[in-house]
Amino acid sequence: MKKGLLIVVSGPAGSGKGTVNSHLLLTDDFRFSVSATTRAPRPGERDGINYFYISREEFEKKIENGEMLEHNYYCDNYYGTPREAVERVLAEGKNIILEIDVNGAMQVKKKYPDAVLIMLLPPTFSIQEERLRGRATEDEETIQKRLAQTKAEVPHFAEYDYIVYNYDGCAEKAAGDILAIVRAEQLSASRNPNTADLYFEKI
Ligand code: 5GP
Repeated sequence: MKKGLLIVVSGPAGSGKGTVNSHLLLTDDFRFSVSATTRAPRPGERDGINYFYISREEFEKKIENGEMLEHNYYCDNYYGTPREAVERVLAEGKNIILEIDVNGAMQVKKKYPDAVLIMLLPPTFSIQEERLRGRATEDEETIQKRLAQTKAEVPHFAEYDYIVYNYDGCAEKAAGDILAIVRAEQLSASRNPNTADLYFEKI
């Protein structure tokens, strides 16, 4: 059976990852990795759906036991991808999306060189800042930290395979761009090494 695609979607705070992904969820083409984090849930977020909310001690134990495919310490909290679920979905031939930061994406790229890395961006940095203030879920200090983090991540954008822009009110279009990327990757010659044998009906 063909293995699924491991797709990483990163985007700075305010890029609209959640909204874009909610459109992708409507298709049956993907599974989403549920990350673990030590940060507190935001209003409306649910354990096991948005994240697994665990304590710092539990998180550190999981790192020690090799249960995290990758992890990062960001804005005073741990975030990480539980390994087992990702490996199971890929082995089932399904595509899985990891919504993780640049640091995590670079770790994934090292371990899974054929992962597809997609950077989702707001149209500009000033629009990102407007969006963060508009959603008013974080205090000023956190907003400043997140903006500084974005600036620090910019040099890594070139290490991604694709850049997708999420214009105001156009999350559906950004989701469509991601679908197009995934389709193109599935059809790429390098991901279909058995083409000749299939064509001559040898397998
Ligand atoms: P937030 O607190 O806004 O939900 O997420 C903060 C940042 O952590 C975002 O950039 C998000 O993509 C990233 N993040 C979420 N889950 C993971 C994860 O499992 N691993 C890593 N490395 N980053 C994550």
